[in-house]
Amino acid sequence: MPAMLWIQCACGHQATRAIPSFEGMTRDRVLPAAKCGRCGQRGAVDMRIFWDTADPEAATDGGSTKRSPVQ
Ligand SMILES: [Zn+2]
Repeated sequence: MPAMLWIQCACGHQATRAIPSFEGMTRDRVLPAAKCGRCGQRGAVDMRIFWDTADPEAATDGGSTKRSPVQ
């Protein structure tokens, strides 16, 4: 299950990408270093790190997200 980084620029642009690990992914380091893909500005205003649970197989092995099929 890949770790994902969600980040937001002051212009409102948001991006999500996979990251190899959580290590070093602190706000102090990531926010100033991020460069916006829309306005090109360096420095993000918010970020979040999460596990990608979109993969149904990954979500079944004790993950916090339990899904019930809706038929
Ligand atoms: Zn921007």
